[in-house]
Amino acid sequence: MTSTLLRNGVVIDTAPEPTVLDRADVLVEDGRIAAVGSGLPVPPGAEVIDATGRIVLPGFVDTHRHTWQAGIRALLPDGTLGGYLQRILGEIAPGYTPDDVHTGTLAGALESLDSGITTLVDWSHIQFGPAHTDASVAALRASGVRAVFGYCYLGGDDLDAFAAETTRVRRELFDTTGTVSMAMGALGPEIADGERALREWRLARDLDLTITTHMGGHGAESAARGLAFLERHGLMDHPTMYVHANFYTGEEFKRIAGTGGTVSATPAIEAALDLGPAATGRALAAGVPTGLGADTVVSGPGDMFSVMRAAYVLERGRPDSAGLAFSTSDALRAATIGGAETAGLADLTGSLTPGKQADLLVLRTDTLGMASAHDPIAAVVLHAETRNVDTVLVGGRTVKRDGVLVGQDVPALLESLAASAERLVG
Ligand SMILES: [Zn+2]
Repeated sequence: MTSTLLRNGVVIDTAPEPTVLDRADVLVEDGRIAAVGSGLPVPPGAEVIDATGRIVLPGFVDTHRHTWQAGIRALLPDGTLGGYLQRILGEIAPGYTPDDVHTGTLAGALESLDSGITTLVDWSHIQFGPAHTDASVAALRASGVRAVFGYCYLGGDDLDAFAAETTRVRRELFDTTGTVSMAMGALGPEIADGERALREWRLARDLDLTITTHMGGHGAESAARGLAFLERHGLMDHPTMYVHANFYTGEEFKRIAGTGGTVSATPAIEAALDLGPAATGRALAAGVPTGLGADTVVSGPGDMFSVMRAAYVLERGRPDSAGLAFSTSDALRAATIGGAETAGLADLTGSLTPGKQADLLVLRTDTLGMASAHDPIAAVVLHAETRNVDTVLVGGRTVKRDGVLVGQDVPALLESLAASAERLVG
């Protein structure tokens, strides 16, 4: 048995709600959380990580990220959804070769790990052919991140070809259990025609895939119509993550909650691209499991600290003080266990509950931006940044240590990324 003991840290657990244990230890055995408490005995042969004065917490769960876009960072500042669809998805995306997909996805996944995101839902709408898909999955696996690969077929309008290729991906690339699993990245009834949407939900059911889909962020009428479509066809009971959800009413959120749906909010991007009113607090108030996502570095930040802060200020700033109940604790919960619930992974990750996978991070506090913080949860949500992320474990495996990613040639990757970006954007 391999053991790691993180000793004497300020430990923040997140389930059922964020709580702080001062001067506590976390014991990891065979990749799982074995115990959390004060003065735990050191097992023979255990690696001991001194976490004195540092904050130990579960890794962040990014519930919505277009990971392949790492090489086109900041290409669309100050844009809107229309501009994003035209420039990024219409003009840039079709130029991506499988190599570009691999490079971008690996860089995006490592950027996530570097900033303490240990699980991401990779919403991958760059799947123009089988080689693109193979490249995406290989990159996620090479990164060491825990991921749900949200497969979005873009090989054309032939629905039988869509079904055949999705079945191949499911059977050939995800025939074993590992840290990367698959979901259906459905275009859904607000973007695709009804026939494709129906096929997406039926195929997901047949292949035992959860669904993640952009719904609720295209205006109130479209949101209502899309939900009515799923209801009319009896599809709402299928495990579905509704991404954006900005225009749902309280009543619509209740229907989502009642059918086991979850919401992924990407507050920084939703605000920047004008996707509608902030969703996080309203979804939570209706009882919907809700997580956060970075979404796209094309128009916004890629780290969860920035995303938590965006969620926090957008909720607190809602008209008529409607969001003042939203706390730093709520933001941290949404970024960890809330995200795991949203992604259907709460039995695996998102908190320090013994038995779960040891996905966790250690934050340094000996920087001017973190020193003398009186509330550890608020310090993480309001003040921490990627440079504070000292150590990251995924399933007990060290992927970042002493502030440096382990086993990755980052300079070579950055060179490939620059070459890819140069070719794609010029
Ligand atoms: Zn998206």
